[in-house]
Amino acid sequence: MYKTVITCAVTGAETTKKDNPNLPITPAEIADAAHEAYLAGAAVLHLHVRNKAGRPTQDIKVFKKTIELVRRKCDMVIEVTTGAAVGMSLEERLLPLALDPEMASLDCGTMNFGDDYIINTLPMMREVASQMQKCGIRPTLECFDLSHVDASLQLIKEGLVTPPYYYGIVLNVPSGVRYDPDTLAFFVRRIPKGSFWTAIGIGGKASLQSIYGAIPLEGFLRVGMEDNVYFAKGLLAESNAQLVARAARIAREYGCDIATPADVRKLLQLRG
Ligand code: ZN
Repeated sequence: MYKTVITCAVTGAETTKKDNPNLPITPAEIADAAHEAYLAGAAVLHLHVRNKAGRPTQDIKVFKKTIELVRRKCDMVIEVTTGAAVGMSLEERLLPLALDPEMASLDCGTMNFGDDYIINTLPMMREVASQMQKCGIRPTLECFDLSHVDASLQLIKEGLVTPPYYYGIVLNVPSGVRYDPDTLAFFVRRIPKGSFWTAIGIGGKASLQSIYGAIPLEGFLRVGMEDNVYFAKGLLAESNAQLVARAARIAREYGCDIATPADVRKLLQLRG
């Protein structure tokens, strides 16, 4: 079997303490949650931060503080968001790239997000990709729709993204493409051969199903309270680490090894 990578998205932009009181919000809470997730088997931290009111922010000071606190505890690979939150300008979304993270998300198209929407035109995507390329940041090509895969191929064709390619296939966002194993497999067939990819299922059911869906296709796994606040139907997750531990257990039962941060740096050729 292959070695799988577990990413933990500990906070996100949308969830609140009302949804789950165990959601980490402050830099210290996020760093603790990241460290616990790391101990449970996560090699990558997908990072959003919040302001004092608990609302999503791209404030570079808050990112810097949070990253420093994580770094004191462990050497997880940090993937910052540039998707950020509904309603933010592109300029604002790109602020944390100035901190030179090893990885960052790159949304590959415009999409519905419940009653809201997030705009990513091709010129916007070119700008994000070229900024990341200049700084040697590995993009996670987040695809919420099949057309996003084709848009990513355009960026590749233009030389704005270079191998190894790394995709995040995001399914079951409210009013987006629903998760099912055939759909996931179809996306995987459409991305360039030899790409690495992570299945990202949103909501309790899809989050768990996408773990079981990804492993037979040799995909990587993502869990965390950004995607889902439940451990089981009606049962809130106690922590991000609890979700990571379950993903790691399932992967091991399939016979997978769990990648360390050093493994991820090698596989995805990160700067380190
Ligand atoms: Zn995110």
